[in-house]
Amino acid sequence: MPDVAVVGSCMIDLITYSSRLPKPGETLLGLKFEKGFGGKGANQCVTAARLGASTVLVSSLGSDSNGQEYLKKLEEENINTAHIKTQENIHTGVAQITVTSSGENSIIIVQGSNLCLSGENVIEAKKHICSSKVLLCQFEVPLLATLEALRVYQGHGTSIVNGAPAVNNVDPDILRLADIFCVNETEAELMTGMKDLSISTAQQAVDKFFSLGCNTIIITFGAQGAIHASSKNKTAIHTPSETVKAVDTTGAGDAFLGALAYYISNHPGLSLQECIKRSNKIAAQSVTKLGTQTSFPSRKELPSELF
Ligand code: ATP
Repeated sequence: MPDVAVVGSCMIDLITYSSRLPKPGETLLGLKFEKGFGGKGANQCVTAARLGASTVLVSSLGSDSNGQEYLKKLEEENINTAHIKTQENIHTGVAQITVTSSGENSIIIVQGSNLCLSGENVIEAKKHICSSKVLLCQFEVPLLATLEALRVYQGHGTSIVNGAPAVNNVDPDILRLADIFCVNETEAELMTGMKDLSISTAQQAVDKFFSLGCNTIIITFGAQGAIHASSKNKTAIHTPSETVKAVDTTGAGDAFLGALAYYISNHPGLSLQECIKRSNKIAAQSVTKLGTQTSFPSRKELPSELF
């Protein structure tokens, strides 16, 4: 039975490198093209699996070649794919990404098959979900599937919801049902209405999250690490990240969440702060390499004291 169940998205990243972004109506010659595996659900699941967690991904792919390639990739990562549905007549989710030489980017996501993930698909996976030590969800699949997963999982283990991509009015049931709700600073600003959120003003944001019905809250602050506050004492605690030479921060949030799910499920004796400290280290490691899943470290590349 799995340590971590992820109910979430799979997207194929279509990345074009270009000297600059095109103007409306303009056609540019790009510099390089790469295809990658992405989607927050799969990214977080891959991180947890590479650290050594047994994982199951509940997700939805199209019947196109992208879907077939993705399924093969997930199997190579030792992820249980028994609950990945292949949908007929719809394409696998894609993220059309343009990255300029100065590091600027523009992204268009077309969710495709991810929109087909239903409450029934979640019910079909109930046995796997409920026997997992951690349930991990994000906001790239229909809300009803996420809500169903959180409802069936209640009372079974630790549920973590990553409130990304940013949503203005998060369903209060999601906040109530998630044992841990995690967002980055931009998502936290949108949800709390705060401007220029920082570590020093994080307590205000935390208070707002508790008033919205959250249990434990985590806010990530990029190179500065993360703050968390538990429902018990409601005080924001800062855990700094590692100082590293960052080359590409894409997917850092997913590396952090996947690592957090790994530590909570595989090291139940660790405090939440220690889990966050180690997850910061995993995420920091990921920003030292290019790409998203290509940058997530595996257990054998990491120091033994992290395990
Ligand atoms: P992304 O959208 O780029 O995937 P995010 O905005 O969701 O990421 P961040 O808050 O940027 O998430 O980063 C998540 C975690 O990754 C941080 O809490 C930290 O542990 C680590 N991290 C990110 N950037 C850096 C960095 N430059 N140096 C060290 N650690 C970093």
